[in-house]
Amino acid sequence: MTQPFLPFTRPTIDDATIAGVVDVLRSGWITSGPQVQAFEAALSEYFGGRPVRAFNSGTATLEIALRIAGVQAGDEVITTPLTWVATSNVILEVGATPVFVDVDPVTRNFDLDLVEKAITPKTRAILPVYLAGLPVDMDRLYDIARRHNLRVIEDAAQAMGSTWGGKRIGAIGDLVSFSFHANKNLTSIEGGALVFNNADEARLAEKYRLQGVTRTGFDGMDVDVLGGKYNLTDVAARVGLGQMPHLAAFNARRTALARLYFDGLRQGPAAAIGVELPPVNFTDTNWHMFQIVLPEHRLSLDRAGFMAQLKERGIGSGVHYPVIHLFTLYRSLGFREGQFPHAERLGRSIVTLPLFPGMEDADVARVCEAVNAICAHYQK
Ligand SMILES: *Cc1c(COP(=O)(O)O)cnc(C)c1O
Repeated sequence: MTQPFLPFTRPTIDDATIAGVVDVLRSGWITSGPQVQAFEAALSEYFGGRPVRAFNSGTATLEIALRIAGVQAGDEVITTPLTWVATSNVILEVGATPVFVDVDPVTRNFDLDLVEKAITPKTRAILPVYLAGLPVDMDRLYDIARRHNLRVIEDAAQAMGSTWGGKRIGAIGDLVSFSFHANKNLTSIEGGALVFNNADEARLAEKYRLQGVTRTGFDGMDVDVLGGKYNLTDVAARVGLGQMPHLAAFNARRTALARLYFDGLRQGPAAAIGVELPPVNFTDTNWHMFQIVLPEHRLSLDRAGFMAQLKERGIGSGVHYPVIHLFTLYRSLGFREGQFPHAERLGRSIVTLPLFPGMEDADVARVCEAVNAICAHYQK
């Protein structure tokens, strides 16, 4: 009997949320309105009362955060090359220069020693990414930022529900950006949220969000800054709102599944040939992803072959991420192979295994069995 295909991720949307979306569609108000306001209020409460605004993507939130921080042409922003390309595209989008530093091979996040070394008089901001939901050392990050008088724009796209020192990512920090893309731990189909330090930043973000417009009275309107079109729809906001009460349970389930992955992969053929597992962390991360790293010289098939073997066994997998600095656009800016060896190795060999709240324990067992079987068969 063949089992149904197991994707590497899948959103969980309950019936109450689906019914709520239908209500919004029937309400006569489907774009930004009361649902967006309710979603923002729920997010603000989640982040300890800090001001929050919702946007139509986690890319828009990053770009607007850079604008609010005053990052512009001539400025440098330090970030990681091992992330979704949005992270550095937005730096280019505002006319600034991305400065990549290599990652720590264990945490897979940028190495804070290298961050500090990369600071120049042109550095305006640091843009950390919490890959798979695992935060960097936040105390050190903010110590560096304070000592060098730098803004921090946190790309916490993957870190909804992650914590540091018992406090939620987003409830602490400078400008903190989240994504609610369909694959993230909390989704609004597409969407994002930005957490601010004060009401002035939030007001400016509202202008950047919608064509720079400020409205006054019944008929007044002015435009004093250049804004774009980044508002979230009420339909999307209703999906996000419906996810909020489930987030803790979603993340707890992800954590339980991650524990099962460690149990299934800590010994056996995969471990024997040196397949690397994520850092064992059951306090800070929301387990957005469970990523293994294939040993480059111990397998007779490459990563694509490995993923094809998983697929043949009915198992989906993903690559998060190919390194950014080796994309054609970034090479044309002068980046080249060999600059960030840890990130480059991970970019070649990292594989994201299935992990989402709707998975059964038996699904993890099946993936571990497949990983071990492929490693046993193709080891060299
Ligand atoms: C998903 C993601 C983004 C972008 O979010 P979108 O909502 O897809 O625009 C940015 N950075 C990281 C690390 C992400 O995972």
